[in-house]
Amino acid sequence: MPANPNKLIEIKIAGRYRLIPVWASELDFEIRPGQNFDARAWKYWKPVLLLLNEVARNEKLKINWVRVHSHFGHKGNVPHAMGWWDHEIKAMFLCHFDKETMLHEVGHALSSGYHGDPWAKQAARLYQKYLKGKELKAAMIQLAHYLSGRRVYKTIYGEKAPKAPEIQSMWENLDPK
Ligand SMILES: [Zn+2]
Ligand SMILES: [Zn+2]
Repeated sequence: MPANPNKLIEIKIAGRYRLIPVWASELDFEIRPGQNFDARAWKYWKPVLLLLNEVARNEKLKINWVRVHSHFGHKGNVPHAMGWWDHEIKAMFLCHFDKETMLHEVGHALSSGYHGDPWAKQAARLYQKYLKGKELKAAMIQLAHYLSGRRVYKTIYGEKAPKAPEIQSMWENLDPK
């Protein structure tokens, strides 16, 4: 019998023994949970990280490691970005556990120039390839936070992008069950 993929196992990560689920230990890149990571957050991360593994393979993107956060019970705004990509160390940092944030960062990994046109084109392409339905629509509208994204939106849909809604922290008032 193969082990339960959600079982936590002890693995040495960046010099320290950490508990991570079996499924997270089998990805092409190392998963580094943040300090004080709450194990109840793994289930939120699972679909995002499994998709990232697939995306990295399809897009031939080399990722060394991915840092993931948990902030249950956080009040107000989490004081850092929802995600970022470090080109030099080929590492991704993810705070928001949604596919859109992850694909936004993959867009950075596959382009340069921060939130310019090359990034917006990559992000839109990735959203269209890996998201569908409501998730795709919401992600395309979020592009409108950036001038580059508004241009890409107009090219794709032939109309002006609607105003992108304010982004709320996904952790705010999230009660782990
Ligand atoms: Zn965070
Ligand atoms: Zn960005």
